[in-house]
Amino acid sequence: MPKIQILPESLINKIAAGEVVERPASVVKELVENSIDAGSDQIFVTIKNGGKDYISVLDNGNGMTAEDAQLSIERHATSKIINNEDLENINTMGFRGEALAAIAAVSRFELTTCGDEETGGYQVRVEGGKLTHSARMGFPKGTRITIENLFFNTPARQKFMKSVNTEYSHIHNLIIRLALGNPDIQFRLTHNKNLVLNIPKNQNFRQRIQDCFGSEISDDLVECEYEESYLSFKGLISYPSKSRSSKRWQHTFVNNRYVKNKTINHAVYAGYRTLLMKNIHPMFFIKVDLSPKEIDVNVHPAKTEIRLRNPNLIHTIFSEQISRLLKTNNRKQFFNPENNPSTSEDVEPISTTENRISPDQEGQPFPEVFVETNEQLGFQSSPSQKIERPSSTKRTEATKSDESEQTISNPFSFSGQPDAEPDTLSPVHLLAQDYNYQIIGQLLNKYIIAQGEKSMVLIDQHAAHERIRFEEIRSRFYAKTLDTQPLLIPVIMELPPQDGLLLEQHQESLEKMGFVIDHFGGNDYSIKEIPTILQDCDAQNLIKDILDEVAQFGKSGKMEDIYDNIFERMACHSAIRASQPLSTQEMQALLNQLAAMNIPLYCPHGRPILIEFNINDLDKKFKRA
Ligand code: ADP
Ligand code: MG
Repeated sequence: MPKIQILPESLINKIAAGEVVERPASVVKELVENSIDAGSDQIFVTIKNGGKDYISVLDNGNGMTAEDAQLSIERHATSKIINNEDLENINTMGFRGEALAAIAAVSRFELTTCGDEETGGYQVRVEGGKLTHSARMGFPKGTRITIENLFFNTPARQKFMKSVNTEYSHIHNLIIRLALGNPDIQFRLTHNKNLVLNIPKNQNFRQRIQDCFGSEISDDLVECEYEESYLSFKGLISYPSKSRSSKRWQHTFVNNRYVKNKTINHAVYAGYRTLLMKNIHPMFFIKVDLSPKEIDVNVHPAKTEIRLRNPNLIHTIFSEQISRLLKTNNRKQFFNPENNPSTSEDVEPISTTENRISPDQEGQPFPEVFVETNEQLGFQSSPSQKIERPSSTKRTEATKSDESEQTISNPFSFSGQPDAEPDTLSPVHLLAQDYNYQIIGQLLNKYIIAQGEKSMVLIDQHAAHERIRFEEIRSRFYAKTLDTQPLLIPVIMELPPQDGLLLEQHQESLEKMGFVIDHFGGNDYSIKEIPTILQDCDAQNLIKDILDEVAQFGKSGKMEDIYDNIFERMACHSAIRASQPLSTQEMQALLNQLAAMNIPLYCPHGRPILIEFNINDLDKKFKRA
């Protein structure tokens, strides 16, 4: 075995560089973060060939004295923390004091800086970790750091750099994130002499998002705001109907730092709950302010991960606030009552989503929600061929009072324009825009074909009824009006032992829902009572499905989520099947119900309920246009 030796400083720096400096974008990140920490309000980044050959970051921040400039490139040299307490109270982007040393170890590095224009500026050059030059020189207040030939002395690293385009796009994305986190600062990015980004200073968050991503994105977002001594946040989130199929438009900043945090992400999704289709993702841009004591940023060298001291509390705050915001905006978002004059006065408006009583509202008087008597399929017959929307006057009044009530108790403030005409063909808006569908018939006992003014629509009868049922069951449950009925002959079912255990664990909740199931002996259980609404279902299969559902949640699941999943199962079992022939009246009744509900147009499993084919598009297909 060779003798143990302490490594020379230059080698230590090279090794450390492996952690901090992964690629050109990581260099830019460290340099720009230093500029932010130095109080700059203008940061200009210039790169060549994706940063592989040249990176320069110029700022108008505090600059450094000659002495500090020399120290700054030493390892563990920082002006940002000096003791343990500071480490627990990080207010700056940097604090580890290793970036400049690490970068200088693997590049040709030049630092020019000036902290005081009267004293003048100072310049140092380092090549592969060795100081090659230092001198006074004239320079305006601020700092410029230039990196040439990154990884010139670490060939293995150099090989790992990707194409110019890839490295460039990493830098571009990075600057966007830094700009979003710091809307007060002007950012410029120049690549191969082209000015590719120039984002002005002193913008509000919406303007900044618009500058970074365009109005196509920012127009689909609604503001949210929450303020409390423990935590405050500001953000813009998408309407459920404007959500996307990718997670690209999700940005979270904690104390201006772009972070990836599972707790916050999960909480935002939880806030959307069943409003999102499966595999569809909300857009959100959220800036959180938290006391630095509440987070640990010293988890990862690149500092994009943070640890929250109190994740549960933060999860609750986010999911509740987002959910409240969406509920309050729900009606405005899905319907535009003024544009849809009333054609029928005999139907009470259903405002399911806003009236979706949450458990903490239990016991409050429940608003009139149900239009239909609970006939076999829950259908309401209507002599009219037209789908009629419910009384829009009532709806409008209800909207107003609901909203004013909610605004007072609601810490969110809105400045979006949710009433604006929808501009995309999302299914949710189709119903709102074009409301008078006329039934043409049923396709293969599965889809309802109807015509709008300038369109043909196909409605998935099972998905539609499932969504209606889901809303109905859920509202009734929280209103405590979910009737239950004893079975004439109890159904005996055998369950695997682990399911028996699950059943016992969840017995109380199931009883609340109207399922009375007793242990019969051994692995057998007897189903004695089920909710009336489910009287025609196969009780045994339904219970097995419900157990599958609760099994997924384990002990940690939130009761509300478990309930929702059970409601989904109940809805699915009680909804009309995809193979069932329907009379025109039944189809009519189904669409009436749908129209009367303020709900998203996809089933609780996330499949669409309705698809619209524009006549212009059909004409084009037939080469008429
Ligand atoms: P850290 O940011 O973790 O402190 P760095 O190695 O990135 O460590 O920087 C070392 C020190 O150099 C900083 O603490 C700061 O005092 C100084 N510094 C670096 N960049 C700048 C800059 N652009 N303007 C002013 N001071 C800077
Ligand atoms: Mg730093």
